[in-house]
Amino acid sequence: MLNGRELAIFRKQLLGWFRQFQRDLPWRRTKDPYRIWLSEIMLQQTRVAAAIPYYERFLQRFPDVHALAGAPPDEVLRLWSGLGYYSRARNLQKAAQQIVAKHGGQFPIRLDDVLALPGIGSYTAAAILSIAFGEKYAVLDGNVARVLARVGAIRGDLRESRRWQELQRTADRSLEPKSPGDWNQAMMELGATLCTPKSPQCLLCPIAQSCEGRKLGIAESLPEKRKKRATVEVTLAAAVFADKNGHTLLLPPPKNTEEKASANHVPTLVSRMSHFPTVAVEGEAAGDLIASLRKMSPGSQGRKWQLVPAGKVRHSVTYRAITLLPFLIEVRELPRISGAKQVPLSEVSSLPVSNLTRKVARSALEARAPAPAKR
Ligand code: SF4
Repeated sequence: MLNGRELAIFRKQLLGWFRQFQRDLPWRRTKDPYRIWLSEIMLQQTRVAAAIPYYERFLQRFPDVHALAGAPPDEVLRLWSGLGYYSRARNLQKAAQQIVAKHGGQFPIRLDDVLALPGIGSYTAAAILSIAFGEKYAVLDGNVARVLARVGAIRGDLRESRRWQELQRTADRSLEPKSPGDWNQAMMELGATLCTPKSPQCLLCPIAQSCEGRKLGIAESLPEKRKKRATVEVTLAAAVFADKNGHTLLLPPPKNTEEKASANHVPTLVSRMSHFPTVAVEGEAAGDLIASLRKMSPGSQGRKWQLVPAGKVRHSVTYRAITLLPFLIEVRELPRISGAKQVPLSEVSSLPVSNLTRKVARSALEARAPAPAKR
């Protein structure tokens, strides 16, 4: 950890570099905590370039916390659709409602109040409070931890609890107290642009002279690798009904439960959004699916359904590698399934559904499309 004069030089060089070379990003042109909060949530699992159009569209539709709090949840999900990790959007809206109900629509400034909002952890709270209000809280995420590990030549798994706490203390002590917002953004910017996971650009780095990892020639090997969780293969089967008008059935978003999700837990794999009737395959895919459909629709016992394989969908969710087998079921009349909605199959992709469901719809539509006429 740097101290005294070394720390002063480190701060000055990093801040000076940030103020001169920072990227011009839409959320850097504002001090509005709502906008900064939205950008931080979007950037949690999404690259900057991918997040910008979503950020702008979202703000056009929901320009402030009141607009977001009062919006239909489906509309919020629709504008999030394609960004993935939909719990972020749900929590964003719940937090907006809490801000309206408890804080009169003003984003809270006390750390405890911010941490009490759904979807906000210590990193996001520190980012919003420092950037929007100039509060002295240091951020620590993967990017910042990598920079600190290299500067201090810290070895081992950074996510290990004691090491992470030590990194937080280092981040707190490094924070430039006069400009905490700029300081936090400077650390993030360095991690995102020069001190990247592979091939850090030490020759261009404003703090190269303070960096122990560079001096020891080990910067590139830090942080040391964590043990990766082994990939688990999951097979699912989904029913894509289609009636003569091209309508299909989507089940409603599964309810949250306390149960611990297994690798093939369907509600988790469909991102808790509307989805085709889907089962985890234990034996034979079509047989497992039919058995589950009969249970969902007790009135359909006498009906014969022909399940036509409609391609194969591959998708991954965290450590799971999913193979989903869609089956097209052409019917005169859609069966009755509690809570299910009838929607045009061709419009499923524009509804608030997960990317997995979108891929299933595309695969079924391709299977349904008439073969090109022979010449
Ligand atoms: S000198 Fe290299 S390793 Fe050290 S902080 Fe700068 S870019 Fe990262």
